Amino acid sequence: MLEKMKMEEEFDPEVIIEEFEALSKDAERVQKETLKKILTENGESEYLLVRCGLGRRTDPENFKACVPLVTHADLDPYIQRIADSTEPICVLTGKPITTISLSSGTTGGKPKFVPFNDGLMEITVLMYKTSFAYRNREYPIEEGKALQFIYSSMQFKTAGGLAAGTSTTNVYRHPLFKPTMQALHAPCCSPDAVIFGPDFRQSSYCHLLLALVSRCQIQLIASTFAFTIVHAFRSFEIDWQNLVADIRHGRLPAARITAPGIRAAVSELLGPNPELADEIHRACAAAASRNWYGIIPAVFPNAKYVYAIMTGSMEPYIGKLRQYAGDLPLVAGDYGASEGWIGANIRPKRPPESVTFVVRPDIGYFEFIPMNDEEESSCPVGLTEVEIGREYEVVITNVAGLYRYKLGDIVKIKGFHNSTPELEFVCRKNVVLTINMDKNTEKDLQIATEEAARVLTAEKYEVVDFTSRVDFSTEPAHYVIFWEVSGDPAEELLQECCNCLDMAFKDAGYVSSRKVNTIGALELKVMKKGTFQKIMDHYIGLGAVVSQFKTPRCVGADNTAVLGILCGNAVKTFFSTAF
Ligand code: AMP
Repeated sequence: MLEKMKMEEEFDPEVIIEEFEALSKDAERVQKETLKKILTENGESEYLLVRCGLGRRTDPENFKACVPLVTHADLDPYIQRIADSTEPICVLTGKPITTISLSSGTTGGKPKFVPFNDGLMEITVLMYKTSFAYRNREYPIEEGKALQFIYSSMQFKTAGGLAAGTSTTNVYRHPLFKPTMQALHAPCCSPDAVIFGPDFRQSSYCHLLLALVSRCQIQLIASTFAFTIVHAFRSFEIDWQNLVADIRHGRLPAARITAPGIRAAVSELLGPNPELADEIHRACAAAASRNWYGIIPAVFPNAKYVYAIMTGSMEPYIGKLRQYAGDLPLVAGDYGASEGWIGANIRPKRPPESVTFVVRPDIGYFEFIPMNDEEESSCPVGLTEVEIGREYEVVITNVAGLYRYKLGDIVKIKGFHNSTPELEFVCRKNVVLTINMDKNTEKDLQIATEEAARVLTAEKYEVVDFTSRVDFSTEPAHYVIFWEVSGDPAEELLQECCNCLDMAFKDAGYVSSRKVNTIGALELKVMKKGTFQKIMDHYIGLGAVVSQFKTPRCVGADNTAVLGILCGNAVKTFFSTAF
């Protein structure tokens, strides 16, 4: 009882907002205190003590003078030692790290290891609370349930025996997660067996099934990324009659739900309910006749909003989400990464396309490297020193052993909330190809092209130039790679190149999405000779200089001129048969 009262007080939206407003009014001081706390707790770590020689100093000036700006590659040897050690060691933090997160922001085809600890989890809770408080002001939700499309990947042990999994897995498995969701009135309607199930398709089906069973209690539809909700409702369009039949008869389809843990847990919650089945059938049949417009409120009449990250690489899914959500508001999720959180969306009524994130100054120490400015590019500025309208790369220092870590994200300053900045997410610094969880950089594209081009060079042909795009007009979306090649290679050879390209994108997100066909077969388009010359001519016409010209390695959907050149000059098209 006391515990419950304490939780209620801690999660009182007005108290949270008041606290956040106070912090944001005094961002500079809060930043200094946050840095001091991080350095006091971790000053004894090998990295700060030996590598950086920081001693016991905790002020920003000495911190910046002693500690270098780093990328993940710089810290990787330290993180690897933590992961490999069978003894608890204080390499990056004052207290040994016991859990590792696998960041999906992969480069070079390898997921990155980043440290995870209780401090990071506490920050996660703070962020959940902050954006919830502002959301709840606009869209209050009562005691109920949430249809949360959450899935946990398998946790494994590192060589040294540390638990490792995606950051969301580490969050869902943390003892603070469930009580937090409960306090935020958003407990997931599915049991753990579904969330932690071995097969995401089975889990997704059961998330939907169990939400339908308690459809009037569902207050909220949520996932981390918008893609997941869209994907689930695309499946719903196909599966709805099966779901209705399962509810009618109170049984799970044997061929579809095979995981014993999921079967046992879900069967317990199912009973024959022909009346409910009829209601849902009527709602779905009506929505199907309007191309699924408003299916979400039709089946979940008490839902208040749909919540997920809809910015950055998720923007392409907003349209589809709107179609499913009908009149229900779409509320964009906060901005964070496996490495830590950055900002909260405190203006939930803003359309997701123009959402900004307000940095919480007490969750880390933030610096910003100005972009598009050669001279200043190595000189970061502090949180309160950023300029409105400028773009910066985010640098974070956090409680889990990352110091002056370049996140690789570009943000634009849109304004200030009191004295703390409001950021707009611009893009990954170097990801060029992304559909859902996949992230491929220019470098990854280059490596894939080089690998596939070996098939050609063995036959004395070569790739003259190349570029790429993501085609979101197909379902599922897929990568298109444009090649101009020398000579006239046989069709069989080019088909082999196409398959090879598809296999050469090795990032875990791409490979797993290809396997379950949430990314479609890669398309290779072979260009007429001289196509890339035309592209260059186009840029020159716009004012570029030849000596500095670089072929764009990825062409955005808004670049209609270049897309026009590419599509008008394709002579052959191949689709991968590799998966
Ligand atoms: P991960 O590697 O899975 O931890 O993904 C973290 C990355 O996802 C961030 O560095 C961003 O590039 C992206 N991201 C996270 N939140 C948002 C957001 N709200 N809007 C746009 N991109 C985001």
